[in-house]
Formats: sequence, structure tokens, C-alpha cells
Amino acid sequence: RLYNEVQHLKGNIRVYCRIRPFLPGQRKKQTTVDSIGENGELVVANPLKQGKDTHRMFKFNKVFGPATTQEDVFRDTQPLIRSVLDGYNVCIFAYGQTGSGKTYTMIGPNSSSEENWGVNYRALNDLFNISQSRKSSIAYDVGVQMVEIYNEQVRDLLSNGSSQKRYPSYYVYLDLHTLGICNTTQPNGLAVPDASMHEVKSTTDVLELMNVGLMNRAIGATALNERSSRSHSVLTIHVQGTDLETNVVLHGNLHLVDLAGSERVDRSEVTGDRLREAQHINKSLSALGDVIFALAQKSPHVPYRNSKLTQLLQSSLGGQAKTLMFVQLNPDVESYSETVSTLKFAERVS
Ligand code: ADP
Ligand code: MG
Repeated sequence: RLYNEVQHLKGNIRVYCRIRPFLPGQRKKQTTVDSIGENGELVVANPLKQGKDTHRMFKFNKVFGPATTQEDVFRDTQPLIRSVLDGYNVCIFAYGQTGSGKTYTMIGPNSSSEENWGVNYRALNDLFNISQSRKSSIAYDVGVQMVEIYNEQVRDLLSNGSSQKRYPSYYVYLDLHTLGICNTTQPNGLAVPDASMHEVKSTTDVLELMNVGLMNRAIGATALNERSSRSHSVLTIHVQGTDLETNVVLHGNLHLVDLAGSERVDRSEVTGDRLREAQHINKSLSALGDVIFALAQKSPHVPYRNSKLTQLLQSSLGGQAKTLMFVQLNPDVESYSETVSTLKFAERVS
């Protein structure tokens, strides 16, 4: 057996792997998941290949098999999310090929009943519950921003957050030239200075805003070119806690990031817009990998400036910030090579 150990997490970076089930109605295909260990080990194999050295082992902080519920996943994410109330910055990513369950984990399936809620909704629900039940001497203010990064352009998905208008003319493209400066001069301030900030009082407020954001994200997508798989969406939740007795103020940010699909695009088959999209995605995902790799290595130089994504998240990656990456896998045998490349990405950043 080939043993590729994804090393145990160093510092504040943790990596969870989640394998989605075969979908109902799908012809039962062969799975590439050979075994899942108790301590985060995952062995994958291509069932169509015989011979030696066909198995590869990876190690994560945790592996969630196909039967894992949304609630199970949240249970292991909750402590991290709660640290936002104590003033930490937290970034949660979902990485994987299109169709591997990134959106399912972060947001949930389309017609979402509460039971199917993804990390986003559960996190907000939890933050509101705690902030309302905690010591009454702390007052919490919660604000939400939601942006999309597409072809290295950052777009505010909530610029028309309060209205139901949803036309491309309402899109606001944001200029990130000054972002690095903003992040260093306002360490606790806005991650995206120009993106609209929406104050929220309850989970329902957030649900409404997120629906506007998701709707905005879908616009401009054609059937052939589903935009959500080619753009990164970043939902940022700003929490400010004010101790009413001492006036001490704590800020924490939670970034929930649904990354663009990581699948390789065959350069010989795509041209024009598709090729440009693919190049931007490759560039930004490898920039993200480089940043996390540098942080895991405790390297003195962290290359934040190589993509909009890493610039945007700079204040929440590294330092005291906590990072969680969900590595999403499609167990289908036809996805084997994408699965291996996803796992190799994870291995590098762990
Ligand atoms: P991605 O965002 O990575 O492209 P999706 O989240 O859209 O993938 O998932 C692809 C399909 O698989 C969707 O129909 C989704 O509802 C389904 N799916 C993904 N993960 C799970 C899961 N853990 N349990 C049940 N269905 C899932
Ligand atoms: Mg998706």
C-alpha cells in the first residue's frame, strides 16, 4: 500500500474530509472509498485497477463518511465557530470538484428543511442563540457581507440586499487595490471595505439576505455554464461584542467560503471564456494552497497577494485566526483521478 500521510494539523489549520453518498436514483456505481479509519484515515482505491500499489492512504483530522448527517458535521465545527464570539477570526472553506458536495456542506440542498441546513445556517443560528443567552452585560452586533469572486473580480452579492430587485445593473464590482492596506490598518475592521454591510438581528434576517445573495449569484449563469461552480462565494459574518460594564469591545469575523470547483479543465477542449475562467480558478486555488502551506510550515513569508481570494481573506488566515478546510469527495469511480488530485491538495496544506 502506498502510504501518503496527510500530517496532523499544525497550528490553527484543520482539515476535514467529507465523502458524499451516491445520490438517490443514481445507478449504483463502484466506490473509490476503500476504508475509513477511526482516527481520520482514509484509504482510496480505483476498483477498476488490479495489482500492487493501487491503494492510497491519507490522514485528516476527521473523515465524514457518506452516511454522515449535517448535524454530525456541525457538531465538530461548532466549537470553532463559537470562538468568533471570543474575538477570533475563523475561515471555513469547502474544496473539491463540482458535484462533490461543497454547497451541500456549506449551505445545504436546495429546498432546505431545517434538518438539511448546512454549516452556514447552523452557524448563524448558533451565534444568535448564544449571543442572546450569554451574560446580558455583553451586547452583540452582527453584520453580514456576501461577495463573489469571479475571474479575479470581486462582486458584492448584497448591494441590493434589502430590495428584491435583481438585475445585473445592480451588481457592484469592488476595487480591491487598497485591500491589503485596509486589512493592516483595520485589523478588526471590514474584510471587504466597499461591500455593503447588513446588520442582522436574527437567523431569519440572515436567511433572507442569503437568499438574495444566492439569487444574485445565479444570475448571469447560463444552463451550460453554471456560474456558481466557477466562482468563489464568501459569506462574512462580523460579530462585535461590547461589554456594557467595561466598554471593552471584541471583534470576530467568520468567513464561510464555497470555493469554485477544483476540477482540471482539459486545455485542448476549452477555449475563450471557459479557458479564462479555468485559468483564474487554477490560479486562485493554488494561491490559496500556497498561503495555507506557508502558514502550516510557519514560513516567514506568506504569499497573500497572488489572488483576490487570499487578499480578501488575509486578516483571517494566519496569526491567531483559525482555518478549517472541508475536503469534499465524490465517491464515484469515474471521479477517481479528481479525487486523488483533491486529496493531494489537502495533503499539501495539512
Ligand atoms: P458542489 O457544490 O460541490 O458542486 P453540491 O453540493 O451541489 O456539489 O452537491 C452535488 C449533489 O449532491 C447535489 O444534488 C447535493 O444535494 C448532493 N449531495 C451532496 N452532498 C450530499 C450529502 N452529504 N448527502 C446527500 N446529498 C448530497
Ligand atoms: Mg456548489
